[in-house]
Amino acid sequence: MENVGISAAVKKAVRYDIVQSILRHYECPPTCQAHCCSKGQIHMFEDEMKVLSSLDPARAGKITGDTNSPSLYLMQAPCSFLNDSGRCHVYERRPTVCGLYPFKVNTSGISIGLQPCPVGFLIIRDFALWMMDTISKADLSEEARSRMADDWQKDVESYALELSGFHIKPVLMEMQIPYDDLEMLSMFLGSRNHGK
Ligand code: SF4
Ligand code: SF4
Repeated sequence: MENVGISAAVKKAVRYDIVQSILRHYECPPTCQAHCCSKGQIHMFEDEMKVLSSLDPARAGKITGDTNSPSLYLMQAPCSFLNDSGRCHVYERRPTVCGLYPFKVNTSGISIGLQPCPVGFLIIRDFALWMMDTISKADLSEEARSRMADDWQKDVESYALELSGFHIKPVLMEMQIPYDDLEMLSMFLGSRNHGK
C-alpha cells in the first residue's frame, strides 16, 4: 500500500483516470523510440520514488532529490527503467508524470497542457475535430461558425508545425485543455471508436 500517498491525491486532482481513458485510443509510433523517456527530466513524488526503489534498487540509484523542489525527486533522462527493447521496466507502477504524458500538469488548476509529440498531436487533432463538431451544432450564425472553424483549423496547422520540430526543439507550444473538456473528449473518442 506504499503507493497511496501524494501521488494518489495528485492523480485525482489532475483527472488521471480520464486521461487514461483518452490515451487508450492511441499508440506511440515505433519511430518515436520512447523519446519522452529519453530526453529531459522525469519528476516523481516521494511515494513513487520509494516504489521504484523497492522494485529495482539498482535502476533507481539514478534518482536524486530535486534541489529546486524539495518535495520532488527526479531522474535525468535517459530513464534507467527504459529497457533494451525501448519499453518501460516498471510500466504498471510508473510515476504519475509518465502515465500522463503527453499531457503535462501546469499550475493553473483549471486546465492541463498537451504536448504536440506524435501521439499528442493526434489528440490535439481529435480535440479540434470534436470542437468543430460541437461548433457545427451550436446555435450560432453561419458567419460565427465559419470563423470559429477557421480558427481551429489554423490552430491544428500551428501544432502540426510544432510536431515537425518535436524531436529537436527544447521548448514546445502546448495546447491547454480545460479539465471540464477532458471528459467530453473521452466520451467523443469512446463513441467514435466504439467497438474498436
Ligand atoms: S508519448 Fe509521445 S513522445 Fe512519448 S513515445 Fe509516445 S509519441 Fe513518442
Ligand atoms: S519510468 Fe518508465 S515510463 Fe517513466 S520515464 Fe522511465 S521508462 Fe519511461
